[in-house]
Amino acid sequence: MTGEDFQEVVSAYYRFYPDAEVIPVKILVTDDLNRTHSEIRPECKEYLLSERPQQDFNGRLVAPHLLDEPMNILMNEYKIIEYFDSLTWLGTIAHELTHAIDYYQMARRENLANYDIIDTDKKYNVFRLWSEYHARKTGYKFRMAIISRKNSSSPEEQLKFIREEEWPYQKNLFLSNYENCSTDYDQIYFVMNLLGRYSAWCDLFPDSFTENSIIEDLEEFSWLSSLLRFLRSHETLETMYDDFGELDNLLWDYWIDF
Ligand SMILES: [Zn+2]
Repeated sequence: MTGEDFQEVVSAYYRFYPDAEVIPVKILVTDDLNRTHSEIRPECKEYLLSERPQQDFNGRLVAPHLLDEPMNILMNEYKIIEYFDSLTWLGTIAHELTHAIDYYQMARRENLANYDIIDTDKKYNVFRLWSEYHARKTGYKFRMAIISRKNSSSPEEQLKFIREEEWPYQKNLFLSNYENCSTDYDQIYFVMNLLGRYSAWCDLFPDSFTENSIIEDLEEFSWLSSLLRFLRSHETLETMYDDFGELDNLLWDYWIDF
C-alpha cells in the first residue's frame, strides 16, 4: 500500500461527500501510534505517557501545533493487515478525515489559537463527542459504499448480515464497553459510536432501522431514541454549531457530569 493509494481514498471520499471542505492532510502508516504521535508533536510526550490513549485503535488524528499546518492521520499498520479483507482501513481514513475536517472548521469558527484547546478544554467535550458520531457514520457509509460496489451481495443480503450478525455483535460490544468504562465521558463516547453506525443503517435501510427500533431490545436505554433523533437532525457542523448547548443538556439528562 502506497501514499498514492491513500490519496486515491481521500479523493474518493471527496467524490462521495462533495460538500465536505477540502483541507490539507497527511496520512502516515505506523507500527506504534504513540511513538509516531510523539514524533510529530514532541511536546505531547508527557500527555501520551500519562494518558496512554488506546494503542490498539485503527487510527488516530494528530492535529498540528499551528492552524496552518496539515492535519496528520496515523494508520495502525497491524490493523490494516488484520482487517484487510473487510477494507477497514478505508473506513479508518474516512473516519479520521471527518474528524480532521470537523476540527479544522471548529477551530476557525471559534477563532482558536491552536487545536490543542479542543482536546484539552472541557468546553469542547460535547463537540468531540458529536464529532465521534459524525466520523463513525461518515466513515462507515463510505466503506459500505465501496464494499457494495466491489462485491456482488444484494441489499437484501447486506441487510440480513447486519441484522443477524453485525448488529447483535455491535450491541454486545457496546454493552460490555459501556459497563467497563471508568468515566462518563468514555461511556458517551461508546454511545456516540453506536449511534453513528446505527444512523448509517437508518439511512441505508430505512424500512428496517429507525430511531425507535434501536431500543427494541435495549429497553434499559430508552433515551437512545431521542438522542439518535437529535443527532440525525444535526448531521453537519453547520447545523450542529448553534445547538451544542442543547446536546449538552440532552446528555446532562442522562449523566450527572462528564
Ligand atoms: Zn473517532
